[in-house]
Parts: sequence; structure tokens; C-alpha cells
Amino acid sequence: MLSGSTINGLKPRFKGELLTPGESGYETARTVFNAAINRRPALIARCAGPDDVIAAVNLARDENLPVSVRCSGHNIAGFAVCDDGVVIDLSPMKAIDVDAQARTVRLGAGLTWGEVNDALQPYDLAAAGGFVSLTGVSGLTLGGGMGWLVRKHGLALDNLLSAEVVLASGRRVTASATENEDLFWALRGGGGNFGIVTSFEFRVHPVGMVLAGICLHPAANAGAAIRAWREFEATSPEVSTQGALLFTFPDDPTAPEPLRGAALVGLGGVYAGPLDEGERVLRPLREYGKPLADMFQPTPYNEAQRMADFLWPPGLHGYWKSSFLNGLSDGAIDTIADYFAKVPSRHTVMVLEHNGDGAMDRVPEGATSFGHRGWPYNLVVTSAWADPAEAEQNIAWTRACFDALRPFTAPAAYVNYIGDEGPEGVRTAYGAAKLARLMSLKAKYDPRNLFRMNQNITPAAAAGAAGAAG
Ligand SMILES: Cc1cc2nc3c(=O)[nH]c(=O)nc-3n(C[C@H](O)[C@H](O)[C@H](O)COP(=O)(O)OP(=O)(O)OC[C@H]3O[C@@H](n4cnc5c(N)ncnc54)[C@H](O)[C@@H]3O)c2cc1C
Repeated sequence: MLSGSTINGLKPRFKGELLTPGESGYETARTVFNAAINRRPALIARCAGPDDVIAAVNLARDENLPVSVRCSGHNIAGFAVCDDGVVIDLSPMKAIDVDAQARTVRLGAGLTWGEVNDALQPYDLAAAGGFVSLTGVSGLTLGGGMGWLVRKHGLALDNLLSAEVVLASGRRVTASATENEDLFWALRGGGGNFGIVTSFEFRVHPVGMVLAGICLHPAANAGAAIRAWREFEATSPEVSTQGALLFTFPDDPTAPEPLRGAALVGLGGVYAGPLDEGERVLRPLREYGKPLADMFQPTPYNEAQRMADFLWPPGLHGYWKSSFLNGLSDGAIDTIADYFAKVPSRHTVMVLEHNGDGAMDRVPEGATSFGHRGWPYNLVVTSAWADPAEAEQNIAWTRACFDALRPFTAPAAYVNYIGDEGPEGVRTAYGAAKLARLMSLKAKYDPRNLFRMNQNITPAAAAGAAGAAG
């Protein structure tokens, strides 16, 4: 229980905003991407900088309160907010410092990828972030970070050079290849388990204009279209990151016919190489069948990162399941197409990603704590619905879809694409060997498991622990 006098004691030292239930701004600040999440924190500490983060960590720890950490609030399990505890909200921390010559950028922990790439575009530089613009730099990077540059430049975390971190003890440290190397290893995949990152330093890349877009076909042809995409992907160069998506086009009066309200399969993405070369390389994909629309065009990278935003509007109820695939067999393709044909919600999107066979797979498996490299294809089923009464039907469909896909899924999942599946989900996301090392480092950096609103890595029992770091 957090008393008014404890909060009043914090106020003089806290530069940001402190929000309690009933105060103006509290309802907005507790709302996350997934509308199914409805948690009421005792305090939302909207931090202005690292000193605020330290003050909030110390308060939560000393008062023995639950803690959650928020960047953009996109985590589908809603880990950014907690009931009756302290939300350490980093979203006001939006400093961006670009060093165009060195091709590095230092980022405040509250930025979204859209904001980052908007700041980099004038330099014709881009960061390897996500596939959409609204997700946060923090959670996405700490779990992995798959986006339009993943085959060319790797995961977001493969491009991380250093991080400033506030530990559970309230101590502030740097993690990099030369400082606190074990923490740097753990942060690159282990999510928010080890401390709160207040700023990130990334390597960025010359990108500028890309050939970006999607070809849309009727979902009735999904099986054949995804087979054509598979054939294209078999030889596609690393500068190309394309996906296959099953979705329903918004039923919006401004939408062009015949797309309006139509069930579609889309084949598309980003070619981040010379535009004329992209026109030639992408031709077979674009000339497959008779697309209802071919939306590929030369696009600034920051705009390309927005092209899929419309598929995941905030404010819907959501339930996600995801797994790497053990290949992309005809059986897997047919099962995906069959399940989409009976999808209960027009807001649900099924995404097949081909992120492997490129830079991500060249990073040695043990170099970071990111769970699994080497599975080229990843499936994400992002079920979404507007009416809370439709939850049961949509969750049941998603689970049945995954049960049917079991022969085709790998024993491996990407930690940022799964919901709260408890310890089993965490094991699948990291694998036994990495999880054991992560648990040992958790015992060193957060022995009391203060940071547990996440895909939680529990501290190894004292005997196996690496010695506490305060
Ligand atoms: C619409 C949508 C699109 C997505 N697209 C992609 C994509 O293209 N590529 C991809 O890889 N993933 C994608 N994801 C998954 C995304 O990576 C995860 O949802 C991730 O958790 C989002 O991080 P966040 O910071 O935006 O969210 P938040 O919910 O704010 O944070 C998630 C969790 O990360 C931890 N955390 C956040 N900030 C910090 C910090 N500074 N220090 C320590 N811990 C912290 C906390 O545990 C927090 O609960 C997408 C998700 C959604 C909903």
C-alpha cells in the first residue's frame, strides 16, 4: 500500500510527473496498446530522466511494491502496467543525439521507432528497428527487434553498442562490450529482467530511399500466393525483407474498390538496395498472378516503416501466438490459409516473416541472449477484436490454429511476439542453456526479482548464482 506521504516525499526530488488514481492524465497513462489489459497502478511515475528512474526504483523496492516498466506500452501481455504497484513510465524520455559521421545514435528510452527514423532520415540513415512505427525502442530492442532491415543489418539488438542501465539496487551502470559485459549479454534478448535501460547507443546505416510496398491478392488464393512468395524467398538477396500477410482490408468509405473490406493475402516489404536493382529483383514477386493492387514504390525509409501501421491500430482487444516454423512446407501453408478462411474477426492479421538467411543468422548463437537464430521463417498470429464479448471465440480460434500447426512449428519462439504463457513460454523463447545462464545473471543483477512484470526469468538458486551485483 502506497501512502500519500511517501509520494509527497518523492515529489521534491522528482522532475517528471507523478500520477495517482483519479488525477488528470492517469487514465491515459495506464492505457496500453492491448485494450484487454485493464490494470490500476498505485502510482505512475512519468520519468524525465535517469535520476527520476532511480528515485522510482528505490521507492518501489523500499516499499515492497510491484514494478512495471513502460516505453510505448505495446507489449501484448500488457507487462508495461501493473495493479497496485509503480509504473516506471519512460515515454517522456525522448532525447535523440545523432552522430552522422560515426553513424551512431544515442536514444532516450521512451522513443518509438517512427520518431527515431524520422530523425535519421534527413541524414539518409536508418536504424534496424521494427516493421511498424509506433512500437517502442526499449521493449523491442531488449527482446530482439525484427524489422525491415533484419536480413541486411540484423536484429535491433545486434546493432546495440551500449546501454545506460539503472539496476534494482538503484545503481546506475553502463553495459557494453567492454563494461559489464555479462549484463550487456543478458540485456540483448533477456528483456526488462536485468534493469531499466535509460538510454541506448546504436549503430545506424546508410539507407535513404527504399523500394517498399505490397502486392495484394484475394485471400481465396492464399495457398498459391504464399507458395509463390516461398519460391521468391528461396533466392532473394539479404537487402530484401518481405513477408506474407493475411488480413482484411479496412471497411472504410475512403478505401479503393475492390480492396474495401476484402479478405486479402499481401506479399511485400522493403528492398533496401539500389532502386533500379530492386525493380529487377522484385519483378517476379510483383508479376505473380494478377494482383488486385501493386503498391510498391520508391519510398523514404521512415515512410516505409509506417506502411503497415494501419493493420495494428491501438485500442483493440488482442491475443497473440507465435512460433518459428520448422520450414515452410505445403502443409504449413495450407493450414495457415485454411484457418484464415474461418477467422472470426476482421481485425486479425496472420504474418509470415522470412527474417533469417541473412545478417541475423551470421551473429554467433552465443553472442547475445536472444533465444533462437537459424529458423528462417516465423509465424505471428495477431488476433484482435473490438467487442470484449468476442474474446472467447477469438482466443479459441487462435489456439485451435496453433494446435493444427503443431507439426510445422519449431520448438522455439520469439519472446516479443508471445503473450503471457508463463514459465513454459519463457523456456520456449530462450532454450534450456541460455535460460540457465540468464537465471544465473538474474540472481546477480536482480536477486529479489524486482523486475518481474515481463517474460520473467527467475533468479537461479543462491548456490548456482554468479554473486550479487549491487
Ligand atoms: C502492433 C505491434 C507491432 C509489433 N511489431 C514488431 C516488430 O515489427 N518487430 C518486433 O521485433 N516486435 C514487434 N512487436 C513486438 C514488440 O517488440 C513487443 O511488444 C515489445 O514488448 C514492445 O516494446 P515496447 O517498449 O514498445 O512496449 P512496452 O509494453 O512499453 O514494454 C514492454 C516491456 O519491455 C520492458 N521494457 C520496456 N522498456 C524498458 C526499458 N527501458 N528498460 C527495461 N525494460 C524495459 C518491460 O518489461 C516492459 O513491460 C510488435 C508489437 C505490436 C503490439
